[in-house]
Amino acid sequence: MMIIAGPCSIEDRNFVDIAVAVKRLGATHLRGGIFKPRSSPFRWHGIGEEAFEIVKEAKRLTGLPFVCEAMSGKQIEQLYDLVDVFQVGARNQQDTELLKEFGRQDKPVIMKRGMATTIEEFVMAADFIINEGNSNVTLCERGIRTFENYTRNTFDINCVAAIKDLCNLPIIADASHGTGRRELVIPITLASLVAGASGFMVEVHQNPDQAMTDGAQSLTIEMFGQLMQKVHVLKAVLPEVLK
Ligand code: PEP
Ligand code: MN
Repeated sequence: MMIIAGPCSIEDRNFVDIAVAVKRLGATHLRGGIFKPRSSPFRWHGIGEEAFEIVKEAKRLTGLPFVCEAMSGKQIEQLYDLVDVFQVGARNQQDTELLKEFGRQDKPVIMKRGMATTIEEFVMAADFIINEGNSNVTLCERGIRTFENYTRNTFDINCVAAIKDLCNLPIIADASHGTGRRELVIPITLASLVAGASGFMVEVHQNPDQAMTDGAQSLTIEMFGQLMQKVHVLKAVLPEVLK
């Protein structure tokens, strides 16, 4: 099971401590944004290349692969040596030229679902990557835009089950962006696993209320531990459902 954990953005050396903590609790992959997509050009956009040495140290200490979003061909080049799995962000998921560029890479890709992408469009978008020669694609449900505004997005559990029916690609769940609310991340992650998700991504921060990005939806390290305990219980009672 792919378990990806880490902060929304890499802010400073605290990333190394988060990485060591989530590895100890069972994460299989680290995450952390370096060049951040934002809804406003006037907001903070990540620490960029300053993160490189920090990530190298976190990888050295944990031995875990690193998942990171690239938003352009140039960023793919900049990040290439550091990143083990490229993430296509929700904002870029409909950029077919960029998808083709990911298709020409020899590294796995996690493609987030766009905020207004239908399930069938989501599957077709993956084909833009696969047709260029890269078949190592994992889909990620991260919530869609609906009229509901109590939550940041509406996590579409239908999509998780439908993808299993429609294609052979694995799908993972990102309940952090899918809900936008820390207290909902654990139950929705568990629900997605029951629905057939092959893993999950969660945002984890050492002090979520101080996070530069996405603090409201970031788990504390303690909550990540609670989530992992529940995942183990679920695995024990539903071994045939969870892989
Ligand atoms: C992220 O993973 O921090 C992110 C920006 O995700 P999304 O593209 O799903 O909004
Ligand atoms: Mn985020």
